[in-house]
Amino acid sequence: MALERTLAILKPDCVRKNLIGEVIKRIQDAGFTIRAMKLVRLSKSEAEGFYAVHKDRPFFGELTTFMSSGPCVPIVLEKENAIADYRTLIGATNPAEAADGTIRKLFADSVGENIAHGSDSVENGLIESAYFFPEHVVVANS
Ligand code: UDP
Ligand code: MG
Repeated sequence: MALERTLAILKPDCVRKNLIGEVIKRIQDAGFTIRAMKLVRLSKSEAEGFYAVHKDRPFFGELTTFMSSGPCVPIVLEKENAIADYRTLIGATNPAEAADGTIRKLFADSVGENIAHGSDSVENGLIESAYFFPEHVVVANS
């Protein structure tokens, strides 16, 4: 297995529900290393840029309004097999279908407001990390 990078985002619902610490604890307990992190409020157009791959989907307007509705916490995570392991940790997109013990099952209210984002491929992990963090602010070792 290779060392991979994934971009997590603790979404605005996570921040509003005061769950930043709870979710980061689970991420760290699962063996991920934090390489970069910040609190940021996305503009609508920044949210549209990040989710451009979904621009033709019916939920795009609602998703980008939600993602720009309050602060969120993008985090660059590193681990062997990070892409798949992080998606296992957060669970299915729809919390109603997420496995017991997953972050979305535990904390999310709906398919739209589902607490956490995770990259879906090694390539997108790098592209999405760079959307929030230029390489020189990603900490190489900690
Ligand atoms: N989403 C939504 N309705 C849907 C599917 C997705 O509101 O029917 C939102 C949800 O917040 C999801 C995001 O759009 O996390 C991106 O969708 P994707 O299919 O990429 O899910 P993810 O990779 O986040 O599990
Ligand atoms: Mg996705």
